[in-house]
Amino acid sequence: MSVVTRYAPSPTGALHIGGARTALFNWAFARHQGGSFLLRFEDTDQARSTRESEEAVLEALSWLGLDYDPVPGFEDIPRQSERLERYREAIEGLLATGAAYRCTCTVEELEAARRAAREARRQPGYNGTCRNKEIGPEPGRPFCVRLRTPEDGLTRWNDLNAGPSGEDISQLDDFIMLRSDGTPVYHLAVVVDDHDMGITHVIRGREHMTSTPRQLLLYRALGFEPPQFAHVPLLVEAGGKKLSKRHESMSVQSYRDRGFAPEAVLNFIARLGWSHSDLEIFTKEELVKLFTLAGVGRSPSQVHNDKLLWLNQHYIKSLPMPTLLSHAHRFLEAEAGGPLRVEPQLERLIDLLRERSKTFMEMASLARFYLVDALELEPKAARKYLTARMAQPLRELRDAFAVLPEWTQESLRGAFDAVIERHQLKLGQLAQPVRVAVVGGPASPGIFETLEILGRERSLARIDAALTRIGSSAQD
Ligand code: GLU
Repeated sequence: MSVVTRYAPSPTGALHIGGARTALFNWAFARHQGGSFLLRFEDTDQARSTRESEEAVLEALSWLGLDYDPVPGFEDIPRQSERLERYREAIEGLLATGAAYRCTCTVEELEAARRAAREARRQPGYNGTCRNKEIGPEPGRPFCVRLRTPEDGLTRWNDLNAGPSGEDISQLDDFIMLRSDGTPVYHLAVVVDDHDMGITHVIRGREHMTSTPRQLLLYRALGFEPPQFAHVPLLVEAGGKKLSKRHESMSVQSYRDRGFAPEAVLNFIARLGWSHSDLEIFTKEELVKLFTLAGVGRSPSQVHNDKLLWLNQHYIKSLPMPTLLSHAHRFLEAEAGGPLRVEPQLERLIDLLRERSKTFMEMASLARFYLVDALELEPKAARKYLTARMAQPLRELRDAFAVLPEWTQESLRGAFDAVIERHQLKLGQLAQPVRVAVVGGPASPGIFETLEILGRERSLARIDAALTRIGSSAQD
């Protein structure tokens, strides 16, 4: 039997890391087994579901590199809102076999029964008034459809994460499957969908575990073979607090927009509950090769964002240049304020910045001096280093730069040495003003490399601008 898994998001917002982890586990499990990974949109909550959210989920999955397969028998990704007829047909089938029945209890009657049950300290579930009335469809009389839940017994399953699980059926009432407004309930839709899509393994968060006994009853009533279930532990904040779903900063989109590499985010998410010996770094290919459900732990998994920074730094250091550039491109372009020319010098700079950048945003900000024409200087650094005392040495350096036979690190060093010697300076005393002049602030990669990358023309223009600035502030 070939493995078929699915990710079934409700498209009501961005792809949060909890959802991304569910998608990733289903994807990795299927790919590891050579099976299929399917998608489905659970958009029955029409008020909150949007096409934009669907797009956002697809975009985030594609960014992470989680590819999905076409669903046999469906032209597109199934949407529950487009399958209402199918659900009603399944309910008709249940009514025909007697596994379900129509109920015409009014809201007031249900409320009165609940109150009575509470007073008598009985279960507040449905009391079965209509169970044996064999109510048919009557024009003008609203009804809902309830499942005829067996009186006793157990629903059991061997959860592939939580272990042997189950519930005493007597705890479950005859729950509604079709509301009186004609809409099927969520549990029914999920069961029919998972059956129709041929799902063999449902991997989802622990929060769905309380739904499983009801869903198993529905499988049985519909005569469907249930899939295997793995309810993976919840994600919690570092320290153990509940993770808030509204935590916008924990969406895949937000990680992308803050300059994280998809390789790092994928690796980070995989390690939220899954492990393989004591390894921390996993490529997508390694995940497919190594992923098993046995590797998913049973206790809640803490989300440590500093781990993501660490992973991102690792990938920024080690990704091949074309990949790095394609990830960094939009950040560099934003810093440049226009289209980017990818030239060998820029690649050299990016290579130098690998060691200094935790995110692509930081990398782009460090590359700003190269990307822009009009450089603003940090006022504090300018005040500290572009002093009247440094004007003469800077001017001499500038003139030496102008006539260097070639613009290389070695020749630049030679020009520096001569000025340092003449004015009895330390390298840093001259390098810092030059740095502020050419990059705008007191930090950059090595000064000779920086100048070499920036090029002669731009370096000279910036030193000239700095000299003018020193001149005008000396007159103030
Ligand atoms: N639509 C549900 C959710 O987004 C998933 C339910 C399931 O996986 O069975 O949480």
